[in-house]
Amino acid sequence: MEERRVALITGASRGIGKKVAEKFAKEGYNLVINYVSDSTNVEEITKEIKSVTDEDIQVLFVKTDVTDFEACENMVKQAVEKFGKIDVLVNNAGITKDNLLIRMKEEEFDRVIEVNLKGTFNMTKNVVPYMMKKRYGKIVSISSVVGIGGNAGQCNYSASKAGIIGFTKSIAKELASRNILANCIAPGFITTDMTDVLSEEVKEKISDQIPLRKMGTAEEVANAVYFLANEENTYITGQVLNVDGGMMM
Ligand code: NAP
Repeated sequence: MEERRVALITGASRGIGKKVAEKFAKEGYNLVINYVSDSTNVEEITKEIKSVTDEDIQVLFVKTDVTDFEACENMVKQAVEKFGKIDVLVNNAGITKDNLLIRMKEEEFDRVIEVNLKGTFNMTKNVVPYMMKKRYGKIVSISSVVGIGGNAGQCNYSASKAGIIGFTKSIAKELASRNILANCIAPGFITTDMTDVLSEEVKEKISDQIPLRKMGTAEEVANAVYFLANEENTYITGQVLNVDGGMMM
């Protein structure tokens, strides 16, 4: 039997990350699933992920705060000890702490940059040496349409997501010669816990501004992640793929 590919997905206990994990499970990848909250029900999530696939895949859960560089190094080591390699890294873990600039606290700015942008660096820096050894790697980082167009009330989040785009384009140039491809997905408004905080009225207003007239699903984002991360993508690197119902053209 051909050796299974291995995907490490950060923030895969819920929302988009979990659907990304399910997509890779369906495609027969072994999985490394990262999360941070103590309340995460690992057994339940394992059951749910295994229930979507007929493949006899293995799943390793690692509780790690992506802001902690050494902890990320340890998570990657654990993954390589178990599976021997990491073929795909999906930098998905992300948070919001919204406020207008005038009211934004320094801690709110710093924490969002630390999780979203520094977390992406921490993981990529630790995974890439193993990808270089195998001369194979796909890195997909979850940015956002607001990293391209900005959004009032989200200067911290937009800066972190714009940073992810610059980071990705730079490493795509550095790592192309090693057969490591790096791309971003820029989701628009996707139904998850992150957007659940918005009122129905706000969601309707947002949907009115989207050509496809609805919010997206985590599955729709997961399919796009897989498109960029699977073996058949051999010529797309340094790109940002919007999954936003046509919101930002
Ligand atoms: P979500 O439902 O709030 O889930 C966030 C995930 O990130 C959870 O698995 C959470 O783990 C994990 N996480 C948070 N802080 C972490 C940390 N310090 N270390 C490790 N993991 C951490 O969010 P989502 O809506 O699925 O968003 C996923 C990604 O898509 C984020 O990068 C987000 O910015 C981006 N995005 C989302 C939307 C949208 O409309 N939803 C739009 C554009 C971009 P726990 O469960 O352990 O807390």
